[in-house]
Amino acid sequence: MPRRVLWCVLVVEAAAVLTALYTGLRHPVTDPDWERAAILAACALVHLEVTRASARQSRMASGPGPYVDQKSVWNFAALVILPPALATAMVLFTHGYSYLRIWVAQKGYPGYRWVYSAATVVLATQAAAAVLQVGIPDHPALPVGMDGLLVVATAAAVRWAVNYALVILVLALSQPRIGMREVLGNARDQRIEASSVAFGFCAAALLVFQPVYVVAPLLALLATQHTVLIKQYERAAQTDAKTGLLNSDWWWKRAEQAIQRELTRGSQVGVLMADLDHFKAVNDTYGHLTGDDVLVTVAGTISAHLRRDFDLAGRFGGEEFAVLLPEMGEDELRATAERLRQKVGALRVPVQGKGGGVESVRVTVSIGAAVCPRNGTDLDELVLCADDALYDAKRLGRNRVCLYGDVEFEESNAAG
Ligand code: GH3
Ligand code: MG
Ligand code: MG
Repeated sequence: MPRRVLWCVLVVEAAAVLTALYTGLRHPVTDPDWERAAILAACALVHLEVTRASARQSRMASGPGPYVDQKSVWNFAALVILPPALATAMVLFTHGYSYLRIWVAQKGYPGYRWVYSAATVVLATQAAAAVLQVGIPDHPALPVGMDGLLVVATAAAVRWAVNYALVILVLALSQPRIGMREVLGNARDQRIEASSVAFGFCAAALLVFQPVYVVAPLLALLATQHTVLIKQYERAAQTDAKTGLLNSDWWWKRAEQAIQRELTRGSQVGVLMADLDHFKAVNDTYGHLTGDDVLVTVAGTISAHLRRDFDLAGRFGGEEFAVLLPEMGEDELRATAERLRQKVGALRVPVQGKGGGVESVRVTVSIGAAVCPRNGTDLDELVLCADDALYDAKRLGRNRVCLYGDVEFEESNAAG
């Protein structure tokens, strides 16, 4: 660890310990506080334990930035209705518990990171507690009315800002080239954090009103945790990392479902197989990385010219793409494939030329098409037919669209 990072970590951790001790000693803890803390801790324990497996999977699939989960529900609830000593204790409990139960088993997650992460949340909690104490004279009593809500919202914002500022600080010191996106996580992570805080506030209010009602937010969290935490993991498992299109397994699965659905509705479905022409030559001339840029650009062009959330585009192999187009008959399919062919052919991908100047790479694509139910009613048959037509397109000179049966028809006409 570089010296400046070490200093930053030590200062933040020392500040967390000192402020936690200072506020903890200044604000007494009463018996009802202990009871509420015990209920929140029990809820946190159930929540963390039940969501353990998906939290771990979701962590593995998430990016390099800070990891967002829903521990904040209980930490924020404690912050709103408990004195600072117990709010701090809740942070240590939830972080410690998830560290021991989730991350220790995951090799390569060092303990010092856990300590720093807990320290940032402890400091953020102290800052938010200070806001609550200024805004609500009898804190930790539950804030009331619109004014109370505003104070709680301000405390949540301060907590978020302090926490992220400290995370950004240490990341910027240790990895100067890291991007903002990796530091802040994506918009989805921020929404998870915001919803956790809102849930935490509800839990706090219910706990003061009727302690047993806290099972309601707990149940809601458990029932939806799969959707919230596992989404990241699912998305990673379904998409091709290079192009962002569906990967072939997932395309196949979704395409089979779509065909069944359209068959029961009596609609036609188009299947396209597209393969870049002489792509090996692009790699040989400009290198594999430029080849990758071309693939990404082509994939983007294909998805941009399909019907959003309706057609399915997947990367099938190296430079081969598959597209499924529900509710599409032969004429429209031919026109769509032709449009895709032209759009890909019109692309100019800028690359650094050998002489140092900027050149542009052009590629063409051959496309084979098949229609359900005319050429078959299951995906295997349809893909075989589209592949056959793709082979014809290549054979006839590339950079063209062939529908299954076109060539046989032409050839038998020529023979007759
Ligand atoms: P054809 O017109 O007959 O399709 O010729 P082709 O050169 O495109 O076909 P071939 O199957 O011989 O070569 C495909 C090339 O695609 C070979 C491989 O290096 C390249 N390729 C496959 N996957 C990737 C990838 O992920 N990135 C890059 N840059 N190239 C890839
Ligand atoms: Mg090819
Ligand atoms: Mg190929």
